[in-house]
Amino acid sequence: MITDEHTKVIVSVDVEDWYHGPTMSAQWDSRNSLDKLLSANPGIERAAPYIDIVLELLERHHVKATFFWVAEYARRFPAFFEKVVAAGHEIACHGLTHFSKLDYRTKRVLFSPEEFKKRALTARKILEDMSGRPVTGYRAPNAYVSGVMLDALEEIGFKYDSSVSVSSIYNKTDSSLAGVTTAPYYPATGDLRASDQPRGLVEFPWPYYSIAGLKIQSAGGPYLRFFGSGLIIRGLRQSLRRGHAVFYFHPIDLCNEAIPMRFSPRRPFLWLFKGDLVKRRVERVLSAFQNRTACFGQILGAQKQSLE
Ligand SMILES: [Zn+2]
Repeated sequence: MITDEHTKVIVSVDVEDWYHGPTMSAQWDSRNSLDKLLSANPGIERAAPYIDIVLELLERHHVKATFFWVAEYARRFPAFFEKVVAAGHEIACHGLTHFSKLDYRTKRVLFSPEEFKKRALTARKILEDMSGRPVTGYRAPNAYVSGVMLDALEEIGFKYDSSVSVSSIYNKTDSSLAGVTTAPYYPATGDLRASDQPRGLVEFPWPYYSIAGLKIQSAGGPYLRFFGSGLIIRGLRQSLRRGHAVFYFHPIDLCNEAIPMRFSPRRPFLWLFKGDLVKRRVERVLSAFQNRTACFGQILGAQKQSLE
């Protein structure tokens, strides 16, 4: 049984660029179209240099984090990847190219299990070869996740996933998420619902702040950019009473330069809040949970016991 004082805030960083976001990546119907965009528009990438800022910030707060890398982004920026490895942070997998695996309208799974496994294996091999370390964690691009994906991840040796979010505003899965809160759990086979049956893969769902009958996502990401650190800190505090609680942000969230909005004309407010403002918010969250943070790898061993 987990007690409140033993639960940790698990700090994670999703390494991707502005063009990997859900509204953008829906436009890249194939890997070719993304490659074409990048080769036709040199210099449109923004996120990679902000990895330095993230590393400095984590060091100042004495935080070891898990970095979920889009594998092809790691390949584009190997020097930044090496800096993350050298700083002793955990490396995990955020897909090969950050394509969503579910249709965002219908929640229909877009990849066969075999195709999904092939892509996840390719991504993991890139990250393991580059880091020289085993990679055991996965986070679904844009958090679109299904039970079939988790079964496939377990089959190819992943030990944990951290993508499921219970929220009153959206359900980005094809499951009812019955029995799922914010506490780490064993998912049922073929579904994301919580099960009593231990298995080889643990799900670390995202925290929420439960208020007035609503569950508001408080893991970070765009919610940190739009709603500030107060909501995130309150939600993390509440979620820590249920189990370990996940916090995440992106290097691109700290970007002070303009995002090339000509590629995303229908979302003029998407990047309204970013840069130093968001950096201060990340620091506020880390300060609020000083000496109470961990990366996934640090707690996974103890996690197995606490679930039983
Ligand atoms: Zn992502």
